[in-house]
Amino acid sequence: VAKNPNEPEFHQAVKEVLDSLRPVIDANEEKYRKEALLERIVEPERVIMFRVPWVDDQGQAHVNKGYRVQFNSAIGPYKGGLRLHPSVNLGIIKFLGFEQIFKNSLTGLPIGGGKGGSDFDPKGKSDREIMKFCQSFMTELSKHIGADTDVPAGDIGTGAREIGYMFGQYKRLRNVYEGVLTGKGLTYGGSLARTEATGYGLLYLTQELLKLNGIDIAGKTAVVSGAGNVAIYAIQKAQQLGVKVLTCSDSTGWVYDPDGIDVALLKEIKEVKRARLTEYVKVRTNAEYHEGRGVWQIKADLALPCATQNELHLEDAKQLVANGTIAVCEGANMPTTLEATQYLQANNVIFAPGKAANAGGVATSALEMSQNSERLSWTFEEVDAKLKNIMINITHNMDDAAKRYGFEGNYVVGANIAGFEKVADAMLAQGIC
Ligand code: NDP
Repeated sequence: VAKNPNEPEFHQAVKEVLDSLRPVIDANEEKYRKEALLERIVEPERVIMFRVPWVDDQGQAHVNKGYRVQFNSAIGPYKGGLRLHPSVNLGIIKFLGFEQIFKNSLTGLPIGGGKGGSDFDPKGKSDREIMKFCQSFMTELSKHIGADTDVPAGDIGTGAREIGYMFGQYKRLRNVYEGVLTGKGLTYGGSLARTEATGYGLLYLTQELLKLNGIDIAGKTAVVSGAGNVAIYAIQKAQQLGVKVLTCSDSTGWVYDPDGIDVALLKEIKEVKRARLTEYVKVRTNAEYHEGRGVWQIKADLALPCATQNELHLEDAKQLVANGTIAVCEGANMPTTLEATQYLQANNVIFAPGKAANAGGVATSALEMSQNSERLSWTFEEVDAKLKNIMINITHNMDDAAKRYGFEGNYVVGANIAGFEKVADAMLAQGIC
């Protein structure tokens, strides 16, 4: 804490991981201590911070902070998204980058961990202003990334539009056409199914995890938070699997639709109009809109937090347990606080941590990198089948790892151990570096 002051989210992520690695650490204590393995793994290999100046439509100049944390390259080039949100600071990017190391390892693909972003707020900006910002951001970032070095992707506030502007600027500055970013448009190297991948992957994992516990997902109800990329495609796949989704939310309010969320309408509001959820109830008159937060009070079998970090608190966890919720599977990164996670696990709620449950996005990004390298595009069905297979493997790997160390059913421990073992092994093999 003294070494990294004012980074509470980073401390929270490190504590969760290191606590759950205790059995592995105890078994290898001498070796890890001698090689300072834990000290090295919590320290980013490189932190890049920079000024991002841009000019708005009125001719006024602005300055934002830009970040790229290249956390760990033991098993592959740095890989992780770029977050554009006013809440972004170094501690948040470090927490996300740290989590990314283990998530990427869990996918079984050769990708290291990184994360970046800016405190720029894309809300209310014109397309031209977004382009100006993205070009300025990439002007500096382009010096530090590359198809075999560091391959950023989307995250909160960074979708296909932003990735397109950044890719265009990278190409212009470096004069190379390479897969330096993932989440690209389909006409210039993007992968089919990448847009859907995180939400779909969340449901593939949830389905498999329930199956492992003898439960059929079909016929269940779910509460979902968020109304962005992850939430929309989680809702879509849930419905395809026979789950009725009752809620969604954005940063100002939430919707309860007793007839099940209308995904086509949600996509129109969020992806096309970029509007608020108040629009939803103008069309679906049976649904309710409420200001603030509150999706967790609606009774459902499954809870899928898909908005942002620390959005499911202890009191929400108590409400979920009282409502008889069977499983909480995290679509967002670290949406459940530590106390809430512990409460859910103590009350036998199946709990799948984000680093496993939302790994479908980065896994499909790695598949986009493969397609770019071989200059080929796979069909939607091919990519989706690979994604499903990866999510099923992750489910079994975290289950097996938990069992191996006597923590059967604790998927937080299982995911952290399964992700950590490969990275630790690679770091030890590569010497003190
Ligand atoms: P989007 O920007 O598409 O959507 C985010 C959603 O969460 C929006 O509905 C947004 O509401 C809401 N939200 C954002 N910040 C807050 C906040 N502070 N309080 C309440 N609601 C908030 O992002 P994504 O769907 O891509 O990402 C969601 C989560 O999933 C993040 O934690 C991200 O790191 C994680 N994730 C995303 C992946 C991806 O492939 N996209 C991959 C793996 C993880 P509003 O529109 O009002 O801001």
